Amino acid sequence: MTIPADLTRDDALQRLRQHVATHAALPGEPGYERCVPWNLAATVAPAAVVLATSAEDVADTVRFAAAHGFTVTVQATGHGAVGVGHGTILVQTSAMKHCEVDALNRTARVGAGARWQDVLDAATPHGLAPMCGSAPGVGVVGYLTGGGIGPLVRTVGLSSDHVRAFDVVTGEGRLLRVTPEENADLFWGLRGGKATLGIVTSVEIDLLPIAEFYGGAVYFDGSDAAAVLHAWTAWCSQLPETANTSIAIQQLPPLPGVPEPLAGRMTVAVRYTAVGDFAEAERLLAPMRVAATPLIDTVGVLPYAAIGAVHADPVDPMPINENQALLSALPAEAVDALLTVAGPESGSPQVIVELRMLGGALAREPQHRSAFCHRNAAFSLATIGVLMPETAATVVEHADAVVEALQPWSTGGQMPNFAPSYDPARPARVYTEDTLHWLAALADRYDPAGVLATGQVIRTMR
Ligand SMILES: Cc1cc2nc3c(=O)[nH]c(=O)nc-3n(C[C@H](O)[C@H](O)[C@H](O)COP(=O)(O)OP(=O)(O)OC[C@H]3O[C@@H](n4cnc5c(N)ncnc54)[C@H](O)[C@@H]3O)c2cc1C
Repeated sequence: MTIPADLTRDDALQRLRQHVATHAALPGEPGYERCVPWNLAATVAPAAVVLATSAEDVADTVRFAAAHGFTVTVQATGHGAVGVGHGTILVQTSAMKHCEVDALNRTARVGAGARWQDVLDAATPHGLAPMCGSAPGVGVVGYLTGGGIGPLVRTVGLSSDHVRAFDVVTGEGRLLRVTPEENADLFWGLRGGKATLGIVTSVEIDLLPIAEFYGGAVYFDGSDAAAVLHAWTAWCSQLPETANTSIAIQQLPPLPGVPEPLAGRMTVAVRYTAVGDFAEAERLLAPMRVAATPLIDTVGVLPYAAIGAVHADPVDPMPINENQALLSALPAEAVDALLTVAGPESGSPQVIVELRMLGGALAREPQHRSAFCHRNAAFSLATIGVLMPETAATVVEHADAVVEALQPWSTGGQMPNFAPSYDPARPARVYTEDTLHWLAALADRYDPAGVLATGQVIRTMR
Protein backbone atom coordinates (compact mmCIF):
# COMPACT_ATOMS: atom_id res chain seq x y z
CA MET A 1 0.00 0.00 0.00
CA THR A 2 1.35 3.48 -0.87
CA ILE A 3 1.43 6.03 1.88
CA PRO A 4 0.53 9.66 1.09
CA ALA A 5 3.64 11.81 1.49
CA ASP A 6 1.82 14.65 3.31
CA LEU A 7 0.70 12.54 6.28
CA THR A 8 1.83 13.83 9.68
CA ARG A 9 3.66 11.32 11.85
CA ASP A 10 0.63 11.09 14.16
CA ASP A 11 -1.67 10.37 11.23
CA ALA A 12 0.84 7.86 9.92
CA LEU A 13 0.90 6.08 13.26
CA GLN A 14 -2.88 5.81 13.12
CA ARG A 15 -2.42 3.97 9.84
CA LEU A 16 0.32 1.68 11.11
CA ARG A 17 -2.12 -1.16 11.60
CA GLN A 18 -3.07 -1.03 7.93
CA HIS A 19 0.54 -1.76 7.06
CA VAL A 20 1.30 -4.63 9.40
CA ALA A 21 -0.76 -7.81 9.45
CA THR A 22 -0.64 -8.11 13.22
CA HIS A 23 -1.78 -6.18 16.28
CA ALA A 24 -0.23 -2.72 16.61
CA ALA A 25 -1.04 -0.55 19.61
CA LEU A 26 -0.60 3.18 20.19
CA PRO A 27 -0.18 4.62 23.71
CA GLY A 28 -3.28 3.88 25.78
CA GLU A 29 -4.55 1.17 23.46
CA PRO A 30 -4.86 -2.50 24.48
CA GLY A 31 -1.59 -4.30 23.77
CA TYR A 32 0.59 -1.22 24.30
CA GLU A 33 1.27 -2.39 27.87
CA ARG A 34 3.16 -5.37 26.42
CA CYS A 35 6.20 -3.12 26.09
CA VAL A 36 6.59 -2.99 29.89
CA PRO A 37 10.04 -4.53 30.37
CA TRP A 38 11.25 -7.08 32.93
CA ASN A 39 13.63 -4.39 34.19
CA LEU A 40 11.02 -1.93 35.41
CA ALA A 41 13.67 0.76 35.89
CA ALA A 42 13.90 1.33 32.12
CA THR A 43 11.47 3.91 30.73
CA VAL A 44 10.00 2.23 27.67
CA ALA A 45 7.53 4.65 26.05
CA PRO A 46 7.59 4.01 22.28
CA ALA A 47 5.42 5.65 19.62
CA ALA A 48 3.73 2.29 19.05
CA VAL A 49 4.08 -1.37 19.91
CA VAL A 50 3.88 -4.00 17.16
CA LEU A 51 3.14 -7.49 18.50
CA ALA A 52 5.05 -9.36 15.81
CA THR A 53 4.08 -12.92 14.96
CA SER A 54 6.28 -13.41 11.88
CA ALA A 55 9.39 -12.17 10.09
CA GLU A 56 7.08 -10.37 7.65
CA ASP A 57 5.53 -8.38 10.52
CA VAL A 58 9.03 -7.26 11.51
CA ALA A 59 10.00 -6.35 7.93
CA ASP A 60 6.70 -4.47 7.37
CA THR A 61 7.29 -2.48 10.57
CA VAL A 62 10.83 -1.55 9.57
CA ARG A 63 9.69 -0.41 6.12
CA PHE A 64 6.80 1.58 7.60
CA ALA A 65 9.14 3.26 10.09
CA ALA A 66 11.65 4.12 7.35
CA ALA A 67 8.91 5.74 5.27
CA HIS A 68 7.78 7.95 8.19
CA GLY A 69 10.96 8.89 9.97
CA PHE A 70 10.62 6.58 12.97
CA THR A 71 13.32 4.37 14.38
CA VAL A 72 12.63 0.75 15.36
CA THR A 73 13.76 -1.21 18.40
CA VAL A 74 13.12 -4.79 19.46
CA GLN A 75 12.20 -6.34 22.78
CA ALA A 76 11.49 -9.92 23.82
CA THR A 77 11.45 -9.98 27.64
CA GLY A 78 12.93 -6.63 28.65
CA HIS A 79 15.67 -8.23 30.81
CA GLY A 80 18.15 -6.01 28.96
CA ALA A 81 15.90 -3.00 28.44
CA VAL A 82 17.29 0.48 27.91
CA GLY A 83 14.98 3.47 27.55
CA VAL A 84 12.79 3.77 24.45
CA GLY A 85 11.34 7.14 23.43
CA HIS A 86 8.42 8.50 21.42
CA GLY A 87 10.29 8.52 18.10
CA THR A 88 10.67 4.76 18.11
CA ILE A 89 8.34 1.89 17.21
CA LEU A 90 8.94 -1.15 19.40
CA VAL A 91 8.69 -4.62 17.87
CA GLN A 92 7.59 -6.99 20.63
CA THR A 93 8.62 -10.54 19.69
CA SER A 94 7.32 -12.60 22.60
CA ALA A 95 4.64 -14.31 20.47
CA MET A 96 7.39 -15.71 18.20
CA LYS A 97 8.43 -18.35 20.70
CA HIS A 98 8.43 -21.46 18.55
CA CYS A 99 11.19 -23.98 19.17
CA GLU A 100 11.68 -26.95 16.84
CA VAL A 101 14.20 -29.54 17.98
CA ASP A 102 16.01 -31.75 15.47
CA ALA A 103 17.19 -34.44 17.88
CA LEU A 104 19.04 -36.40 15.19
CA ASN A 105 21.21 -33.45 14.18
CA ARG A 106 21.22 -32.00 17.71
CA THR A 107 19.97 -28.57 16.69
CA ALA A 108 17.07 -26.30 17.54
CA ARG A 109 15.42 -23.59 15.49
CA VAL A 110 14.18 -20.96 17.90
CA GLY A 111 11.91 -17.95 17.39
CA ALA A 112 12.95 -14.41 18.32
CA GLY A 113 10.58 -14.29 21.29
CA ALA A 114 11.54 -17.58 22.94
CA ARG A 115 13.01 -17.63 26.42
CA TRP A 116 15.62 -20.22 27.37
CA GLN A 117 12.92 -22.03 29.36
CA ASP A 118 11.08 -22.71 26.07
CA VAL A 119 14.22 -24.35 24.63
CA LEU A 120 14.92 -26.29 27.82
CA ASP A 121 11.35 -27.63 27.74
CA ALA A 122 11.72 -28.75 24.11
CA ALA A 123 15.29 -30.10 24.19
CA THR A 124 15.86 -31.74 27.57
CA PRO A 125 13.35 -34.59 27.03
CA HIS A 126 15.74 -35.70 24.23
CA GLY A 127 18.74 -35.60 26.60
CA LEU A 128 19.94 -32.49 24.79
CA ALA A 129 21.08 -29.20 26.29
CA PRO A 130 20.92 -25.65 24.92
CA MET A 131 23.82 -23.45 26.08
CA CYS A 132 21.62 -21.06 28.04
CA GLY A 133 22.54 -18.47 30.63
CA SER A 134 21.96 -18.58 34.36
CA ALA A 135 18.31 -17.41 34.15
CA PRO A 136 15.90 -19.48 31.99
CA GLY A 137 13.54 -16.48 31.83
CA VAL A 138 16.01 -14.50 29.70
CA GLY A 139 15.34 -14.25 25.95
CA VAL A 140 17.35 -16.54 23.65
CA VAL A 141 18.11 -13.99 20.91
CA GLY A 142 18.91 -11.04 23.20
CA TYR A 143 21.29 -13.30 25.14
CA LEU A 144 22.98 -14.80 22.07
CA THR A 145 23.45 -11.50 20.26
CA GLY A 146 25.41 -10.42 23.34
CA GLY A 147 27.61 -13.54 23.28
CA GLY A 148 26.23 -15.29 26.34
CA ILE A 149 28.18 -16.38 29.41
CA GLY A 150 26.39 -19.46 30.74
CA PRO A 151 26.90 -21.69 33.78
CA LEU A 152 29.04 -24.08 31.65
CA VAL A 153 31.04 -21.35 29.88
CA ARG A 154 34.49 -22.70 30.80
CA THR A 155 33.58 -26.14 29.49
CA VAL A 156 31.65 -25.30 26.31
CA GLY A 157 32.71 -21.72 25.53
CA LEU A 158 30.60 -18.72 24.70
CA SER A 159 26.95 -19.63 23.97
CA SER A 160 26.97 -17.71 20.67
CA ASP A 161 29.81 -19.97 19.48
CA HIS A 162 27.05 -22.60 19.25
CA VAL A 163 24.91 -20.58 16.82
CA ARG A 164 24.56 -22.08 13.33
CA ALA A 165 22.36 -19.56 11.55
CA PHE A 166 20.14 -16.52 11.95
CA ASP A 167 17.19 -15.20 9.99
CA VAL A 168 17.33 -11.43 10.20
CA VAL A 169 15.47 -8.34 9.01
CA THR A 170 17.87 -5.54 8.09
CA GLY A 171 17.30 -1.82 8.51
CA GLU A 172 16.18 -1.76 4.89
CA GLY A 173 13.43 -4.25 5.69
CA ARG A 174 15.13 -7.10 3.82
CA LEU A 175 14.91 -10.67 5.13
CA LEU A 176 18.31 -12.35 5.05
CA ARG A 177 19.57 -15.81 5.87
CA VAL A 178 22.82 -15.53 7.84
CA THR A 179 25.28 -18.43 8.19
CA PRO A 180 29.08 -18.79 8.16
CA GLU A 181 28.80 -19.02 4.34
CA GLU A 182 25.84 -16.76 3.56
CA ASN A 183 26.09 -13.09 4.60
CA ALA A 184 29.12 -14.11 6.63
CA ASP A 185 29.80 -10.51 7.71
CA LEU A 186 26.48 -10.45 9.55
CA PHE A 187 27.20 -13.89 11.03
CA TRP A 188 30.34 -12.37 12.54
CA GLY A 189 28.58 -9.22 13.76
CA LEU A 190 25.31 -10.60 15.10
CA ARG A 191 27.20 -12.75 17.62
CA GLY A 192 28.14 -9.97 20.04
CA GLY A 193 26.82 -6.88 18.24
CA LYS A 194 23.33 -7.04 19.85
CA ALA A 195 20.68 -5.23 17.73
CA THR A 196 23.22 -3.14 15.79
CA LEU A 197 22.89 -5.08 12.54
CA GLY A 198 19.26 -6.11 12.31
CA ILE A 199 16.31 -7.70 14.02
CA VAL A 200 16.76 -11.45 14.32
CA THR A 201 13.54 -13.35 13.67
CA SER A 202 14.87 -16.84 14.39
CA VAL A 203 18.12 -18.54 15.29
CA GLU A 204 19.47 -22.05 14.86
CA ILE A 205 21.66 -23.40 17.64
CA ASP A 206 23.57 -26.53 18.49
CA LEU A 207 22.28 -28.70 21.31
CA LEU A 208 24.86 -30.62 23.30
CA PRO A 209 24.37 -34.18 24.55
CA ILE A 210 24.29 -33.23 28.24
CA ALA A 211 21.39 -34.87 30.09
CA GLU A 212 22.75 -34.30 33.60
CA PHE A 213 25.38 -32.27 35.37
CA TYR A 214 26.88 -32.22 38.84
CA GLY A 215 26.03 -28.90 40.37
CA GLY A 216 24.03 -26.54 42.53
CA ALA A 217 25.04 -24.03 45.18
CA VAL A 218 26.55 -24.09 48.65
CA TYR A 219 25.27 -21.18 50.74
CA PHE A 220 27.17 -19.71 53.69
CA ASP A 221 26.36 -17.02 56.22
CA GLY A 222 27.54 -13.50 55.34
CA SER A 223 29.73 -13.44 58.46
CA ASP A 224 31.84 -16.14 56.77
CA ALA A 225 32.28 -14.05 53.60
CA ALA A 226 36.02 -13.41 54.09
CA ALA A 227 36.88 -17.07 54.70
CA VAL A 228 34.67 -18.28 51.82
CA LEU A 229 35.81 -15.70 49.26
CA HIS A 230 39.50 -16.23 50.00
CA ALA A 231 39.05 -20.01 49.87
CA TRP A 232 37.13 -19.65 46.60
CA THR A 233 39.81 -17.67 44.76
CA ALA A 234 42.52 -20.12 45.84
CA TRP A 235 40.28 -23.06 44.84
CA CYS A 236 39.49 -21.54 41.40
CA SER A 237 43.14 -21.75 40.41
CA GLN A 238 42.97 -25.57 40.78
CA LEU A 239 39.83 -26.15 38.71
CA PRO A 240 39.95 -27.98 35.37
CA GLU A 241 37.90 -26.84 32.39
CA THR A 242 35.16 -29.37 33.14
CA ALA A 243 34.30 -27.37 36.28
CA ASN A 244 32.63 -23.96 36.43
CA THR A 245 31.93 -21.70 39.37
CA SER A 246 30.72 -18.31 40.47
CA ILE A 247 30.31 -16.73 43.86
CA ALA A 248 27.67 -14.22 44.95
CA ILE A 249 27.33 -12.04 48.01
CA GLN A 250 23.56 -11.90 48.28
CA GLN A 251 21.01 -9.96 50.29
CA LEU A 252 17.73 -11.53 49.24
CA PRO A 253 14.48 -10.02 50.48
CA PRO A 254 12.13 -12.14 52.60
CA LEU A 255 9.77 -12.91 49.73
CA PRO A 256 7.84 -16.08 48.87
CA GLY A 257 10.21 -18.51 47.13
CA VAL A 258 13.32 -17.31 48.98
CA PRO A 259 14.39 -20.11 51.40
CA GLU A 260 14.11 -18.96 55.01
CA PRO A 261 17.86 -19.35 55.83
CA LEU A 262 18.72 -17.02 52.93
CA ALA A 263 16.05 -14.35 53.40
CA GLY A 264 16.62 -10.90 54.88
CA ARG A 265 20.33 -11.35 55.59
CA MET A 266 23.70 -11.41 53.85
CA THR A 267 24.71 -14.82 52.54
CA VAL A 268 27.41 -16.08 50.18
CA ALA A 269 26.50 -18.54 47.41
CA VAL A 270 29.19 -20.68 45.80
CA ARG A 271 27.71 -21.92 42.54
CA TYR A 272 29.19 -24.98 40.87
CA THR A 273 28.54 -26.91 37.66
CA ALA A 274 30.62 -29.74 36.25
CA VAL A 275 30.20 -32.30 33.52
CA GLY A 276 32.02 -35.54 32.81
CA ASP A 277 33.06 -37.65 35.78
CA PHE A 278 30.61 -36.82 38.60
CA ALA A 279 32.69 -38.58 41.30
CA GLU A 280 35.66 -36.41 40.32
CA ALA A 281 33.41 -33.33 40.29
CA GLU A 282 32.31 -34.12 43.85
CA ARG A 283 35.92 -34.62 44.95
CA LEU A 284 36.89 -31.26 43.41
CA LEU A 285 34.14 -29.44 45.31
CA ALA A 286 35.07 -30.94 48.70
CA PRO A 287 37.40 -28.10 49.86
CA MET A 288 34.72 -25.47 49.25
CA ARG A 289 32.12 -27.42 51.22
CA VAL A 290 34.27 -27.03 54.34
CA ALA A 291 35.36 -23.41 53.78
CA ALA A 292 32.84 -22.56 56.53
CA THR A 293 29.64 -24.16 57.83
CA PRO A 294 27.09 -24.25 54.99
CA LEU A 295 23.56 -22.96 55.58
CA ILE A 296 22.23 -24.96 52.61
CA ASP A 297 23.98 -27.31 50.17
CA THR A 298 22.00 -28.09 47.01
CA VAL A 299 24.87 -29.63 45.01
CA GLY A 300 24.32 -33.05 43.49
CA VAL A 301 23.62 -34.76 40.18
CA LEU A 302 20.85 -32.74 38.53
CA PRO A 303 18.97 -33.03 35.23
CA TYR A 304 20.07 -30.32 32.78
CA ALA A 305 16.47 -29.04 32.91
CA ALA A 306 17.34 -27.76 36.42
CA ILE A 307 20.28 -25.60 35.26
CA GLY A 308 18.42 -22.43 36.36
CA ALA A 309 18.48 -23.64 39.97
CA VAL A 310 22.26 -23.19 40.17
CA HIS A 311 22.13 -19.38 40.25
CA ALA A 312 18.45 -19.14 41.25
CA ASP A 313 18.34 -15.65 39.70
CA PRO A 314 15.38 -13.34 40.39
CA VAL A 315 12.37 -14.25 38.25
CA ASP A 316 9.72 -11.55 38.69
CA PRO A 317 10.01 -8.17 36.95
CA MET A 318 11.68 -5.54 39.14
CA PRO A 319 13.46 -2.19 38.80
CA ILE A 320 17.14 -3.08 38.78
CA ASN A 321 20.46 -1.34 38.37
CA GLU A 322 23.30 -3.43 36.93
CA ASN A 323 27.00 -2.69 36.79
CA GLN A 324 29.85 -4.84 35.58
CA ALA A 325 33.57 -5.17 34.99
CA LEU A 326 35.95 -7.77 33.63
CA LEU A 327 38.94 -8.68 35.76
CA SER A 328 42.33 -10.00 34.67
CA ALA A 329 43.04 -11.60 38.07
CA LEU A 330 41.59 -11.91 41.56
CA PRO A 331 44.44 -11.96 44.09
CA ALA A 332 43.84 -11.84 47.85
CA GLU A 333 44.13 -8.00 47.83
CA ALA A 334 41.27 -7.82 45.31
CA VAL A 335 39.11 -10.04 47.52
CA ASP A 336 39.88 -7.76 50.50
CA ALA A 337 38.94 -4.71 48.41
CA LEU A 338 35.65 -6.36 47.44
CA LEU A 339 34.89 -7.32 51.03
CA THR A 340 35.52 -3.74 52.20
CA VAL A 341 32.93 -2.35 49.79
CA ALA A 342 30.43 -5.26 49.61
CA GLY A 343 31.14 -7.54 52.58
CA PRO A 344 29.34 -7.88 55.93
CA GLU A 345 30.63 -4.62 57.45
CA SER A 346 30.14 -2.53 54.31
CA GLY A 347 26.46 -1.53 54.50
CA SER A 348 26.18 -2.61 50.85
CA PRO A 349 22.67 -2.05 49.43
CA GLN A 350 23.20 -4.50 46.51
CA VAL A 351 20.98 -7.58 46.23
CA ILE A 352 23.73 -9.48 44.40
CA VAL A 353 27.46 -8.86 43.95
CA GLU A 354 28.72 -11.69 41.82
CA LEU A 355 32.04 -12.98 40.48
CA ARG A 356 32.05 -15.56 37.70
CA MET A 357 35.17 -17.54 36.91
CA LEU A 358 35.90 -17.35 33.17
CA GLY A 359 38.73 -18.86 31.13
CA GLY A 360 38.81 -22.40 29.77
CA ALA A 361 36.99 -22.87 26.46
CA LEU A 362 35.79 -19.25 26.52
CA ALA A 363 39.34 -18.02 26.09
CA ARG A 364 39.86 -19.89 22.80
CA GLU A 365 38.76 -18.38 19.49
CA PRO A 366 35.96 -20.50 18.03
CA GLN A 367 35.87 -21.94 14.51
CA HIS A 368 33.96 -18.86 13.34
CA ARG A 369 35.18 -15.59 14.82
CA SER A 370 32.62 -13.14 16.16
CA ALA A 371 32.20 -9.56 17.36
CA PHE A 372 32.42 -10.68 20.99
CA CYS A 373 35.66 -9.27 22.46
CA HIS A 374 37.55 -9.81 25.73
CA ARG A 375 37.69 -13.60 25.73
CA ASN A 376 40.81 -13.48 27.86
CA ALA A 377 39.30 -12.02 31.06
CA ALA A 378 39.77 -14.26 34.10
CA PHE A 379 36.66 -13.20 36.06
CA SER A 380 33.56 -11.11 35.54
CA LEU A 381 32.16 -8.88 38.26
CA ALA A 382 28.48 -7.93 38.26
CA THR A 383 26.23 -6.05 40.66
CA ILE A 384 22.44 -6.10 40.79
CA GLY A 385 20.60 -3.66 43.01
CA VAL A 386 16.90 -2.94 43.31
CA LEU A 387 15.94 0.69 42.71
CA MET A 388 13.34 1.74 45.28
CA PRO A 389 12.60 5.50 45.21
CA GLU A 390 14.23 6.17 48.58
CA THR A 391 17.41 4.16 47.90
CA ALA A 392 17.88 4.45 44.12
CA ALA A 393 20.70 7.02 44.18
CA THR A 394 22.59 5.11 46.88
CA VAL A 395 22.31 1.82 44.98
CA VAL A 396 23.70 3.33 41.76
CA GLU A 397 26.54 5.17 43.52
CA HIS A 398 27.45 2.11 45.53
CA ALA A 399 27.51 -0.12 42.42
CA ASP A 400 29.95 2.35 40.85
CA ALA A 401 32.03 2.16 44.05
CA VAL A 402 32.16 -1.66 43.85
CA VAL A 403 33.47 -1.50 40.30
CA GLU A 404 35.91 1.26 41.29
CA ALA A 405 37.24 -0.82 44.21
CA LEU A 406 38.23 -3.58 41.77
CA GLN A 407 39.65 -1.12 39.23
CA PRO A 408 43.31 -2.15 39.83
CA TRP A 409 42.46 -5.65 38.56
CA SER A 410 40.04 -4.57 35.80
CA THR A 411 40.85 -5.26 32.15
CA GLY A 412 38.91 -2.09 31.30
CA GLY A 413 36.55 -4.24 29.24
CA GLN A 414 32.87 -5.07 29.60
CA MET A 415 30.53 -7.65 28.09
CA PRO A 416 27.74 -6.71 25.68
CA ASN A 417 25.08 -8.46 27.75
CA PHE A 418 25.22 -7.05 31.27
CA ALA A 419 24.35 -3.47 32.30
CA PRO A 420 23.10 -2.09 28.96
CA SER A 421 23.11 1.69 28.74
CA TYR A 422 23.18 4.72 26.49
CA ASP A 423 26.51 5.75 28.01
CA PRO A 424 28.57 6.84 24.99
CA ALA A 425 31.71 5.49 26.72
CA ARG A 426 30.28 1.97 26.91
CA PRO A 427 30.96 0.73 23.34
CA ALA A 428 34.68 1.39 23.73
CA ARG A 429 34.68 -0.82 26.83
CA VAL A 430 32.68 -3.61 25.20
CA TYR A 431 34.53 -3.77 21.87
CA THR A 432 38.05 -3.35 20.57
CA GLU A 433 38.68 -0.44 18.22
CA ASP A 434 38.73 -2.74 15.18
CA THR A 435 35.49 -4.45 16.16
CA LEU A 436 33.81 -1.08 16.72
CA HIS A 437 34.95 0.04 13.30
CA TRP A 438 33.60 -3.05 11.52
CA LEU A 439 30.32 -3.13 13.43
CA ALA A 440 29.70 0.51 12.53
CA ALA A 441 30.64 -0.08 8.90
CA LEU A 442 28.29 -3.06 8.67
CA ALA A 443 25.48 -1.13 10.33
CA ASP A 444 25.89 1.63 7.73
CA ARG A 445 25.82 -0.95 4.96
CA TYR A 446 22.73 -2.89 6.11
CA ASP A 447 20.85 0.07 7.62
CA PRO A 448 21.98 3.15 5.65
CA ALA A 449 19.02 5.26 6.78
CA GLY A 450 19.64 4.47 10.46
CA VAL A 451 16.19 2.98 11.08
CA LEU A 452 17.62 0.68 13.76
CA ALA A 453 19.97 3.31 15.20
CA THR A 454 18.41 3.48 18.64
CA GLY A 455 19.31 1.97 22.01
CA GLN A 456 22.66 0.32 22.59
CA VAL A 457 23.78 0.13 18.96
CA ILE A 458 27.11 0.84 17.28
CA ARG A 459 27.10 3.43 14.47
CA THR A 460 29.60 5.71 12.85
CA MET A 461 29.33 9.30 14.02
CA ARG A 462 27.05 11.17 11.63
C1 LIG B 1 18.41 -11.98 35.93
C2 LIG B 1 19.34 -11.90 34.74
C3 LIG B 1 20.22 -12.94 34.49
C4 LIG B 1 21.10 -12.88 33.39
N1 LIG B 1 21.98 -13.90 33.19
C5 LIG B 1 22.86 -13.82 32.15
C6 LIG B 1 23.84 -14.83 31.95
O1 LIG B 1 23.92 -15.81 32.69
N2 LIG B 1 24.72 -14.67 30.93
C7 LIG B 1 24.65 -13.61 30.06
O2 LIG B 1 25.46 -13.55 29.12
N3 LIG B 1 23.71 -12.65 30.22
C8 LIG B 1 22.84 -12.72 31.24
N4 LIG B 1 21.94 -11.72 31.44
C9 LIG B 1 21.92 -10.59 30.51
C10 LIG B 1 20.98 -10.91 29.34
O3 LIG B 1 21.55 -11.89 28.51
C11 LIG B 1 20.73 -9.63 28.52
O4 LIG B 1 20.08 -8.68 29.35
C12 LIG B 1 19.92 -9.91 27.28
O5 LIG B 1 20.00 -8.77 26.45
C13 LIG B 1 18.47 -10.18 27.60
O6 LIG B 1 17.79 -10.49 26.42
P1 LIG B 1 16.18 -10.43 26.44
O7 LIG B 1 15.69 -10.73 25.08
O8 LIG B 1 15.71 -11.27 27.57
O9 LIG B 1 15.92 -8.92 26.85
P2 LIG B 1 15.33 -7.69 25.96
O10 LIG B 1 15.40 -6.54 26.90
O11 LIG B 1 14.03 -8.05 25.38
O12 LIG B 1 16.40 -7.49 24.81
C14 LIG B 1 17.63 -6.89 25.17
C15 LIG B 1 18.39 -6.50 23.94
O13 LIG B 1 18.74 -7.67 23.20
C16 LIG B 1 18.73 -7.36 21.81
N5 LIG B 1 17.69 -8.16 21.16
C17 LIG B 1 16.59 -8.72 21.71
N6 LIG B 1 15.87 -9.34 20.75
C18 LIG B 1 16.52 -9.16 19.59
C19 LIG B 1 16.27 -9.54 18.24
N7 LIG B 1 15.18 -10.26 17.89
N8 LIG B 1 17.17 -9.17 17.29
C20 LIG B 1 18.29 -8.47 17.60
N9 LIG B 1 18.56 -8.08 18.86
C21 LIG B 1 17.70 -8.42 19.85
C22 LIG B 1 18.41 -5.90 21.70
O14 LIG B 1 19.61 -5.17 21.71
C23 LIG B 1 17.63 -5.63 22.95
O15 LIG B 1 17.67 -4.28 23.36
C24 LIG B 1 21.07 -11.76 32.54
C25 LIG B 1 20.17 -10.69 32.79
C26 LIG B 1 19.33 -10.76 33.89
C27 LIG B 1 18.41 -9.59 34.15
